[in-house]
Amino acid sequence: MVVAQTAAGRKSPPCSKQSGKEFGHARLTCKVVTVRTRLKPSVWSQLVDLVYPPRCEICGTDGLDPFCDECLRNVYTIEHPYCRRCSVPFPPGQEDRWLCYECQHAQSPLVAGRCVGLHAGALREALARLKFHGSRRLVPALAELLYDRVLREVDEPDGLPLGDITALVPAVLHPRRRRWRGFDQSLELTKALGELWRIPVLKALERAHDTKPQVGLSPEERRHNMAGAFRMRPGVEVDGLVVAVVDDVWTTGSTLGACARALQRGKAARVYGLTVTRTPPPWHEAAAHKHSVDGA
Ligand SMILES: [Zn+2]
Ligand SMILES: [Zn+2]
Repeated sequence: MVVAQTAAGRKSPPCSKQSGKEFGHARLTCKVVTVRTRLKPSVWSQLVDLVYPPRCEICGTDGLDPFCDECLRNVYTIEHPYCRRCSVPFPPGQEDRWLCYECQHAQSPLVAGRCVGLHAGALREALARLKFHGSRRLVPALAELLYDRVLREVDEPDGLPLGDITALVPAVLHPRRRRWRGFDQSLELTKALGELWRIPVLKALERAHDTKPQVGLSPEERRHNMAGAFRMRPGVEVDGLVVAVVDDVWTTGSTLGACARALQRGKAARVYGLTVTRTPPPWHEAAAHKHSVDGA
């Protein structure tokens, strides 16, 4: 496979700038190629395939895994125009707009954040399967999509300086919820992303207290619920570092904001946010499929 060198000196897939040009349902042919190429089957996995034939982890179709092409076509990627800070998409025709109303009027501890796509369609289904059905096979593929999103921004002339990020920090679950689930999806995603990106994963944060599920809470209730929810882990240093907090879903940004505030108290230089999905705005067709699992 031919690879291109990015501005940050890292390897970029040749299709990363061409994928997802359509608004709404994006065609992700290049991403399919990228994901499948990176996830080369080992001899062992080929043997396993003979016993357990591969199938799409989302719809169950036999054949390629973890996503079939049809499910990848059902991803709502976030394309211009969108808020350059929180990534919420704007309606078509607002190409010159830079920030959404909330980002214009609220102080965020995050410099900015980016997401693969909207919390709808195949990505919503994939996260639900990961979190509520334990489909950890989806982690490498979701991390791959997130890494491709980062590379695309690095390649953009006026994109975020995501290449400055030198460490990733998971928005960890409370131990009680991790025990209930059996794993921590944010930590798993962060570790997989760190391997692709080849930058360290710092378990810099811990939950100061358990929080109630965010589902059904208003934006103000979410912020109140997450206030002070994270603190720095003793012995972990982020002083002067440019870091990105990694989580699965971005709804109001209250979880990422709470992480960023704790990292700021640890004297991190800049904090970005990276998530797989973002809740669609009410005007978007994907909002009809809205089903928030933020903080769950
Ligand atoms: Zn499928
Ligand atoms: Zn915004």
